[in-house]
Amino acid sequence: MRGAVLYAPGDVRFEERADPIIIEPGDAVIRIAATCVCGSDLWSYRGINPVTEPSPTGHEYCGLVEEVGRDVTTIRPGQFVIGSFFASDNTCPHCRAGFQTSCQHREPVVGAQSERLRVPLADGTLVATPEPPDAELIPSLLTLSDVMGTGWFAAVAAKVEPGMTVNVVGDGAVGLLGMLSAARMGAGRIIAMSRHEPRQKLALDFGATDIVAERGDDGVARVKDLTGGVGADAVLECVGTAESMTQAILSTRPGGFVGFVGVPHGVEIPGVDLFYSHVGLRGGPAPVRRFLPELIDLVWNREIDPGRVFDLTLPLAQVADGYRAMDQRQAIKTLLLP
Ligand SMILES: [Zn+2]
Repeated sequence: MRGAVLYAPGDVRFEERADPIIIEPGDAVIRIAATCVCGSDLWSYRGINPVTEPSPTGHEYCGLVEEVGRDVTTIRPGQFVIGSFFASDNTCPHCRAGFQTSCQHREPVVGAQSERLRVPLADGTLVATPEPPDAELIPSLLTLSDVMGTGWFAAVAAKVEPGMTVNVVGDGAVGLLGMLSAARMGAGRIIAMSRHEPRQKLALDFGATDIVAERGDDGVARVKDLTGGVGADAVLECVGTAESMTQAILSTRPGGFVGFVGVPHGVEIPGVDLFYSHVGLRGGPAPVRRFLPELIDLVWNREIDPGRVFDLTLPLAQVADGYRAMDQRQAIKTLLLP
């Protein structure tokens, strides 16, 4: 089969790779229906995370099960499935508490930007749709593998409740879907911190009510202005830089919560600032497995359409162009079809 491999910063190649096979008795092999490029893939693509050897890329996936190992009981060949970027058993204490990305047996799922994929712990990791979906639903179902589940987790972690004022820091795909999530949870007002016009438009479509283009101290001041000097009740931090994290904490009202899902790069929070802010923090790699059943229902019943976040669709063979477009901010998120 063919798949994408990152050789060095900026160097993604689509090439012949070994066909995935069942290795452990709990594995499944799926044929990819759609995959995509994640904002977090860009950390390696840009050389911010070191690339030490050629590495298969991609961790967002959905598709048809082709084969399962002998211990797999709930997942069957022919089912259309979606899974998280971390495989999890869904039975250990951390999974039962809803934090499957901290599973005691977790394994990263890598190499999803390919024609086929091995998924470990298939019973715990994969969730099947009621039947194979219409093609038009596939992009939205794919987002549940990471980006939509991550935006949803940001809103859950920030304790969004009906009527709240929610501030979203970051207008990438996760931030935009964090806005969709907050809207779905009944937020009364959603402030989108965004400087880019096409993203502002999508933000408004997804439920944002106010746009703040300023950043840093000016951005915080603007959020305070919009909230009568109080700050937002809940803040979703969807970037992961020191600046965005500071902006998130300072724009939250005392007693409010920040849900942070941007992978931190260079973030250091002074303890004293945190202490006197009265702000609660909860973040981490989103346990998207927890939300899959509920989010699949919402997509299946056409109540949410997170697939709108894909503004570029390419054949999988052009995966390198997909990275380039996102790196140069010409695309919000690239959908790849084998
Ligand atoms: Zn577990």
